[in-house]
Amino acid sequence: MRRLRRAWRAGAWRLAALFAIALAIGLASHAPIACLLAASALALGYNLLRLARFARVLATQRLVPAANGSGVWGVIADTIRERQRLALAGKRRMLRRLHDFRDAAAALPDAVVALDREQRIEWFNAAAANLLGLEYPRDLGAHLHDLVRAPRFAEWLHGEAGDPLADLPSPVDAERHLSLRLIRRAEDRSLLVVRDVSQLLRLEQVRRDFVANVSHELRTPLTVVHGYLDMIEPEQVPEYESILHELRNQSRRMTQIVEDLLTLSRLEARDDLPRERINMRPLLLALSREAAALSQGQHTVLVEMDDGRDLLGSTKELHSAFSNLVTNAVRYTPAGGQVTLRWQREADGGARLAVADTGHGIPAQHLPRLTERFYRVSTSRSRETGGTGLGLSIVKHVLQLHQARLEIQSAPGAGSTFSCVFGHERLLEPLALAGAP
Ligand code: ADP
Repeated sequence: MRRLRRAWRAGAWRLAALFAIALAIGLASHAPIACLLAASALALGYNLLRLARFARVLATQRLVPAANGSGVWGVIADTIRERQRLALAGKRRMLRRLHDFRDAAAALPDAVVALDREQRIEWFNAAAANLLGLEYPRDLGAHLHDLVRAPRFAEWLHGEAGDPLADLPSPVDAERHLSLRLIRRAEDRSLLVVRDVSQLLRLEQVRRDFVANVSHELRTPLTVVHGYLDMIEPEQVPEYESILHELRNQSRRMTQIVEDLLTLSRLEARDDLPRERINMRPLLLALSREAAALSQGQHTVLVEMDDGRDLLGSTKELHSAFSNLVTNAVRYTPAGGQVTLRWQREADGGARLAVADTGHGIPAQHLPRLTERFYRVSTSRSRETGGTGLGLSIVKHVLQLHQARLEIQSAPGAGSTFSCVFGHERLLEPLALAGAP
C-alpha cells in the first residue's frame, strides 16, 4: 500500500514537472496552450502504450514478469504477479491432492467406476479394467450397460433398489464371480464398486459340501444304531431301562439334527422352489390339527382367516416351515396357554401368516440371532422339548426362497408372535373369484 502511495505521488510529480516544463517552453515560445496540449498527448500516449503492453502480457503469459520499473504500472504488475503466483501454487497443491486420490483409488483391489447421471463412465481404476474388461481411454464416456452385457446387470443398474448385486459372472472370465454395489453421489451421479468374491463363494461351497457330506455319512450309522436300539425291549433288560430310554432319545435327536442339516443343505443349494397355488384354509386347519396333536389338549389352538387369498409357493416347504413355527409355539408355551394361527392381509397388498403364543417369550437381545444355526435362548429348554436349534434357520431359508421375511415380536412373559410376511406378487385371488366375470 505504501509502495503504491509512493509510486502514485512520484507519478503525480512527474506529470506536474512535465506540465511545468511544457508551460515554461510554451510561455517562452508564445504558444503555451499548444505546448500544454503536446505534453498531455505525450503523457496520454505513454500511458496508452504501457496499457497495451500490459494487456498483451496478460493475454500471452501465464505469469506477469516482475516489474523492473517503478511507478503505478510497476505496482499493478507486481500485485497481479503475486496473485497469479498464489493461485498457481494453490492449483498445483489441488492437482497433487487429486493425483494422490486417484493413485489411492487406482491401487484399490476392488474395481471402482465413476458414473455420470446417464450412467456413462467418467473414470475407472485398474481393477475395473481387470474385473469388468474396461479399456482406457476407449471406454470413457461409454454406457456401462453396453459393456457389461448381462440382463441381470442392466436391470439392477437401472433399478431403484440400493441392494448389492451378488454373484455376477465377470464379463472377462465367467469363472470369476463378482459382487456389485452402487453408491449414489451428488447430482444423481454414482460410484460402482465391484469385488471379486470367487474365493469367498468357493469357501462357502466347501463349507456347504462338508456339512452335507458329514450329515449324509452320519445318516446310515445312525439308522443302524437306532434300529438296534429299537430292537431291544426295555422290559428285557430292566437294569438298563433308563439308560436305554436315554440312548433312544439321544439317537432320535441326532437323527433329527442330521435330517435338519440335510434339509438346510438342500435349501441352500436351490435358487428357486416350485410355484404352486396353496389354499390357506386347509393348510391352517392341518397345522392346527398338528398343534392340537402335539399339545395333547393342554393348549387352546385358534385359527383366524382374515384374508381369503391363496399363496403362491412350494406347498411342501411352506408347510414344513409353518409347522416348525407352530411346533415351537406349542413347545415353548406352558400348559393352559393359547396358540393362534392367523392369515391376514397387509396394507401393501401382501399377506402374513402369524403364529402367536402366550408362552415364555424371548428377551429382546436374543431376537436378532434366533435364526442362526444352533442358536437357542435356553439350551436346556430346547433339549427338553426335543429341539435341534435348526428349525428357525430352515424357516428363514424357506421364506427367502419365496422372497418373504420372518418377523419376530416377543417379550419375556408376554408370549411371542412369529410372522411370515409375503409380498403381493405371491398372492392369488381364490379360483372361484378369479374365474368370475
Ligand atoms: P429349537 O429346535 O431349539 O426350538 P429353533 O431354531 O426352532 O430351535 O428356535 C431357536 C430358539 O428360539 C429356541 O431354542 C427357543 O429358545 C427360541 N424360540 C423359538 N420359538 C419360540 C417361541 N414360540 N417362544 C419362545 N421361544 C422360542
